Amino acid sequence: MKHLCYPQGMEMTANSRPCAFLDRDGVLIEDTGHPHRIEEVCWVPGAMEALRRLNDSGRAVCVVTNQSGVARGMYDEASVGRLHVWMAGQARAAGARIDGFAYCPFHEAAEEPRYRRSSPRRKPGPGMIEDWLAHFPLIRAGSFLIGDRQTDMDAAEAAGIPGHLFAGDDLDAFVAKILEAA
Ligand SMILES: [Mg+2]
Repeated sequence: MKHLCYPQGMEMTANSRPCAFLDRDGVLIEDTGHPHRIEEVCWVPGAMEALRRLNDSGRAVCVVTNQSGVARGMYDEASVGRLHVWMAGQARAAGARIDGFAYCPFHEAAEEPRYRRSSPRRKPGPGMIEDWLAHFPLIRAGSFLIGDRQTDMDAAEAAGIPGHLFAGDDLDAFVAKILEAA
């Protein structure tokens, strides 16, 4: 499975469990328009508390993020990887866990030919969610997605899991409500 970073060794997990799929920009970190410089990244309020709450719920936490900035030549895949390793480390330091990151670097109008294509992994396609479910010990029942755009909701629907539209503000309060109703 390409375009994946799983710093916590989730492939070794023995028991199948549901997953909280999280969009990255506008959910975990502020969407400042293709954020990619670590020194400029800002976590949303309540992000670490939300991650701990999801960890405690027994779910894996997997990021699914469109990164057309790669296709647009704004930054490279190594930068995406570095940011994800940094995010995982920040979470770990706060006693929280992000199990893995999947990203899609493709776009139909890419500058670079090797990134110029439509991809079922790019949301609203369900490809990244399906990849997680197919290649790791994760189960659909009890899984859900949190995103900040309609394309996130469409990807969740196509994957057959609930989608929750996060409008900003406190992520932990938002997650608490979802888990209460689950
Ligand atoms: Mg987003």
